[in-house]
Amino acid sequence: MERKAMNEKVECASCPKLVCNSKYHDQGPPNCPTKTKRDIVERVLAEYNKPEVYEFARQASIQEFEGQIDLPEGRTPRHPRIEEVIQFAKKMGYRKLGVAFCGGLMNEGAMLNTILKNRGFDVVSICCKGGAVPKETIGITEEQKVQGPGVWESMCNPITQAEILNDEDTEFNIVVGLCVGHDSLFFKYAKAPTTVLIVKDRVFGHNPAAGLYLSHSYYRKLLRKEPLES
Ligand code: SF4
Repeated sequence: MERKAMNEKVECASCPKLVCNSKYHDQGPPNCPTKTKRDIVERVLAEYNKPEVYEFARQASIQEFEGQIDLPEGRTPRHPRIEEVIQFAKKMGYRKLGVAFCGGLMNEGAMLNTILKNRGFDVVSICCKGGAVPKETIGITEEQKVQGPGVWESMCNPITQAEILNDEDTEFNIVVGLCVGHDSLFFKYAKAPTTVLIVKDRVFGHNPAAGLYLSHSYYRKLLRKEPLES
């Protein structure tokens, strides 16, 4: 693939201006996509004009707006994510939800299942090990099994999770702690829109942001420089 010229490379994460949320949005840096990618910005507007996308985006922004409230002491967040997921699903009029959870987060999946049912939803939940397909199917060796050689291990099966929820005609899916990469496959194959309640992080109690917050102190090893393997 041809490399893009350096001055075209989009690097919002290094932006010194962050003017895209203001009336000065045309005053970003030279590589600002608000200026350099106008063709994409304009083309994408047609997507938002699709009625179902329009409504989804509109309700998501209303959910964003409702996420905080101005109190005398200052702007204050209002809802934990789990409440926002429920509120958003209700705004969209969804009745049937899918929960795709990791077997290692069975308790969390069960708690979410109860909460969603209590709030009136029809819930289909599927564990990552559902289908009980052995790991050997995808080339995992005995030495690469989590529980050690000789033990039956079912592969995490996110495509089956997605297809079962597709088969159940879920209207909105919620991911609970799927592994890195397994979550990617779930997103790729699930037909209904999907949100994430829990992002797996085995070290930081499913709060991967903690790794970022600690990267300038106890976890500064995250900032080490190293080349990609050639
Ligand atoms: S869109 Fe432009 S102004 Fe906004 S963060 Fe990216 S480079 Fe900066």
